[in-house]
Order: sequence, then structure tokens, then C-alpha cells
Amino acid sequence: MAKINWDESANLDKLAELSIKTGVALQPGQDLLISAPLEAAPLVRRLAIHAYKAGAGIVTPLYTDPEVILARYKNASESSFEKTTEWLFDGMAAAFDNNTARLAIVGEDPMLLSEQDSEKVSRANKVASKASSPIRERITRFDVNWNIIAWPGILWAKRIFPQMSDDDAQTALANAIFKASRVTDSNPMEAWKIHNSNLRQRTSWLNQRDFSALHFYGEGTDLIVGLADEHEWMGGASLARNGVMCNPNIPSEEVFTTPHNLKVNGYVRSTKPLSYQGTLIEDIAVTFKDGVIIEASAAKGEEVFIKLLDTDEGARRLGEVALVPHGSPISQTNLLFYNTLFDENAACHIALGQCYSKCLKNGGELSNEEILKRGGNSSMIHVDWMIGSNSMNIDGLNESRNITPVFRNGEWA
Ligand code: ZN
Ligand code: ZN
Repeated sequence: MAKINWDESANLDKLAELSIKTGVALQPGQDLLISAPLEAAPLVRRLAIHAYKAGAGIVTPLYTDPEVILARYKNASESSFEKTTEWLFDGMAAAFDNNTARLAIVGEDPMLLSEQDSEKVSRANKVASKASSPIRERITRFDVNWNIIAWPGILWAKRIFPQMSDDDAQTALANAIFKASRVTDSNPMEAWKIHNSNLRQRTSWLNQRDFSALHFYGEGTDLIVGLADEHEWMGGASLARNGVMCNPNIPSEEVFTTPHNLKVNGYVRSTKPLSYQGTLIEDIAVTFKDGVIIEASAAKGEEVFIKLLDTDEGARRLGEVALVPHGSPISQTNLLFYNTLFDENAACHIALGQCYSKCLKNGGELSNEEILKRGGNSSMIHVDWMIGSNSMNIDGLNESRNITPVFRNGEWA
């Protein structure tokens, strides 16, 4: 495989165009905030061109540099890890209140902090996570149109393809991103229209059935996930509260909703490793009682996993349940991407922590108390991990516990 010349990459340009038109669905006059790793500059520049062509007001890139992040862990004083950039988070929240659209590019090394003092990492994360709650609130409430896409960062690529040279690994990851994002299709925007309508069929069916719970069972799993009162299934294109229909995730294969934070019972195992802050957490096994995890173990990374569960009250409860068939194109690559944007689209999953209030009817209008009353969970974390496999069965249960097959052997029934 040859090194990619980004200036001449038609697929990179197609990804940028797709992100602006179908992903974020930028409106004329709207400002755009792009967060990206420094390495993704070639993509950010393409995005800016397409954004301005689409009538953008101001496009503002916000770059992070992994070397600067590491410089902090290696050289900063202890007190640095008690600090965070509140002013930046407040500014971003103000931008969203002014209808600025958000675009995030992932692509950083998932193991960037793996060699650093885990105590410092978790302290810094906790402070940042607390201070960024104004942003999290606006995003989970879906105030403005937003989109996440991926850049094939070289260190990320080397984690997935460790035997390859840097150039080959990056090319292999770029090709996987382009394919999963459907930009290798002759007409990516048309391909997304079809994909969105297929996902819409699934969410409509689930919303019509209005199950009160889902029963997951298969190897190592027997779990009843009660669903929040007046929950709604979402997937693919969705309507932000500012009236813009956008595709938050590219790629995306999931349909998802909000579980009831008091009504989860049984046991479940992870089917793929969870990459969390530089640690690979493997073979998670947890037992839920009345919504709370009462027993937890992991074959690898157990300490980090338990620390995660102890973040706050809501971290031991579910904030998301998502259905993805085993035959999804990302699952078929058989790759572990070490990145949620990809790995969560390879298998059915659950997320610990914060729920998406947009998955509740009129969710954007509800107060925190009302969200809680319907069973919506709140937490500083939202961490997805995979429970799906080709042996997973799922039944939909209604109030009188009638059974409707939803998944059989990992596929839609
Ligand atoms: Zn998900
Ligand atoms: Zn999630």
C-alpha cells in the first residue's frame, strides 16, 4: 500500500462534503466549531471549504496536540491536575446557545495516556468531565446539529494494524473509515439516504411495539433491560432541537434508546474489549439488581473498570441500550478499532452513565427531575461496551410480559 497524498485524495474530499451536507447538515449562515487532533488538519481544511461553500458564517477549528497533552503529564506540577479550562467549555456552551453547529473529528492514539500515572489521568478527567457538563447537557439534549467523523491517525492505525509500516497502517485504516462511512459509494449522500431509511424502518417498528423491556440472552448473558417510560428509539438521521435534521455519527449502524435506571436485572458479559483511557478492559462480567451493578469483574483492567463504576451514583446504571446486527459492515471487518465510533457499530451494546434525553418523548423540554422520573439516568460518564455476538437473542416484552422476537442469533428476527 502506498502513502496517501491527502491533497489528492478524492475520498477525503467526499468525506468532508458528506460530513457538511449529510452529517452536520450545516445551514446557511450557521457557524461551525470543529474539534480535531492536529494531525487531521488536511480533513479540517476540506471541511472548511465545503462549509463555506454551503454558506457557513465562521468556521473555527479547535486543535488538540497529543505532544502537548503528554508534556503536561510528564512535566506539570501536581496542582495542574486539579485544573481544567472552564472558560473554554463555557465558551463552547455559549456558542451552542447561539446555534453554532458542532463537528468532532476522532483519530487520536487510544493508548496515548497508557504509560502515564493513572491517578493523574483519572483526576484530570474527573475535573474536565465536571466542568464540561454544560456542553454534555446541550449535546445529550440535542440542542444543535452535530456530527462526529474519523481521521486515520497514524498511532491509532498502528494499534489496529501493528505489523504494518506507518504508511500502510494509515492507508488501511483510511480505507476502513472511507468504506464504513460509505464514501467509497459512487454517491455517498444517496447511500446515506437509503441507509437512513432502513434505520428508520427499525426505529418505527420498535416505537410502534413500545416494549417495556428487552430480554437479552445468549452465551454468558441473561439480562432484562427495562426501558424508560415514554422512551423513543432513534438511529441514523435525527432532528435536533434547532430544527435541523442531521446524522450525528458517521459511520452509524445502531438504533438506540434510554433504559430505565431502576429496572435492569440479570447478568451480562462483554463480547469485545473496551478501550478506556489507555487501558484495555477485557471480559467484563456484571450483575444488575434493580438497575444497579451489584457485582463486577474483568479478566483484564478490572481496577480501571471498578474505578469507572465508582465515578458517581449514576455510573453503575445504564444510560443507553443499542441494537446492531452481527452482520453490520463494521462487525464484518473483524477489526477491533479501540474507538467507540467504530466498535459500538459492530455489536449490540449498553452504556453506563448519562442517558440521551432526546430518546424520551419531548425529552428536550424535560427538567432533570422529569427525566429521572421517567427512568432516565444521569452521570458524568457515558461509556459504551459491547455485549452482542452471533449467539445473542433478544425478546421484546410488553407490560403483560408477552414475547416478541427482536434478534435471533445476532440478527434481526
Ligand atoms: Zn450507542
Ligand atoms: Zn453511547
